[in-house]
Amino acid sequence: MKELIDKLYKEKMLSREEFRLLLDGRSEETASYLFEKARIRQQENFGHDIYLRGLIEFTNYCKNDCLYCGIRRSNANAQRYRLSEEEILDCADKGHAYGFRTFVLQGGEDPYFTDDRICRIVAELREHFPDSAITLSIGEKPRKSYQRYFDAGADRYLLRHETASQALYKKLHPASQTLDNRIRCLYDLKDIGFQIGAGMMLETPYQTADDLLDDLFFLKELDPDMIGIGPFIPHKDTPFRDCRQGSLELTLYMLGILRLMFPQGLIPATTALGTIDPLGREKGILAGANVVMPNLSPTPVRGKYLLYNNKICTGESSAQCYNCMTVRLRSIGYQTVKSRGDSPRAAKRQN
Ligand code: SAH
Repeated sequence: MKELIDKLYKEKMLSREEFRLLLDGRSEETASYLFEKARIRQQENFGHDIYLRGLIEFTNYCKNDCLYCGIRRSNANAQRYRLSEEEILDCADKGHAYGFRTFVLQGGEDPYFTDDRICRIVAELREHFPDSAITLSIGEKPRKSYQRYFDAGADRYLLRHETASQALYKKLHPASQTLDNRIRCLYDLKDIGFQIGAGMMLETPYQTADDLLDDLFFLKELDPDMIGIGPFIPHKDTPFRDCRQGSLELTLYMLGILRLMFPQGLIPATTALGTIDPLGREKGILAGANVVMPNLSPTPVRGKYLLYNNKICTGESSAQCYNCMTVRLRSIGYQTVKSRGDSPRAAKRQN
């Protein structure tokens, strides 16, 4: 196993067979060796700096019906909400005061937020916070919409591919949602000039090791700036309510592999990871992640943006989340930084 990890460390890629061996042969010992190597790559590229992204969950209305997601259209129990433009700006204002220099507007695919409205919000954020990056995470749109958001001042776009396997994608989504369109979106976004983020859930129902190998090869091909992965966690009002949640162990292992494949990648220790283990995010950083995304949403709506059961930080304020994160990172020898945290590659493109 160590030879495989050494090879991945040097060459940033393995063959399908080698990746399979690395996944099948995992043990505590292998994992700790992998994380050691991953931390070398993490620290030579980023030191002990961890980038902050302020997450603003601005709507939980969604026209889609992803089978795993708690805010899917068919969930009649979801209490729907939208933030006003003033509320969104207010979240960003608070975040900026704490030192956030990236704002992520995330939401369901909500038709109320037309391109005009999104562009107006982006332009206002751009004007108010010229030193900050604006990230959108609002799903699949036509290329011309993406172009408008970019022209209005958005810098980055997060759109997890969810799974690169056609067969699995079909089991997780209704027939109207296709993997081909999701991939089309990612390539359009990249082509327009966004820094893009892709990624997948781990251990969703029906997922096999083969599917994960597909994800690794897809990511290598797409070569995104950011990669978000997290364990699948069931939501009580979805068809997958009784399915098993993804494990901490596999999530950390995949984070380590991704850090070796993408030494300069922006890889978050996600909220889902913090939800399945009280120290999940710290462990994620120590496995190679270098980004955290504390919540900046107003406390009263946090309990409504529930993609899965037991989501953490739903009773807290932005200030509490920011302070808590700072303390947590310090406890493992890392620090948050007050910078946009662009991918080293994108920073070079802009010069
Ligand atoms: N509508 C946007 C934002 C989706 S929410 C979009 O389509 O991109 C952000 C991410 O949460 C999703 O991409 C998905 O990977 C993750 N997610 C959704 N439901 C989940 C669940 N039950 N468990 C774990 N992660 C989930």
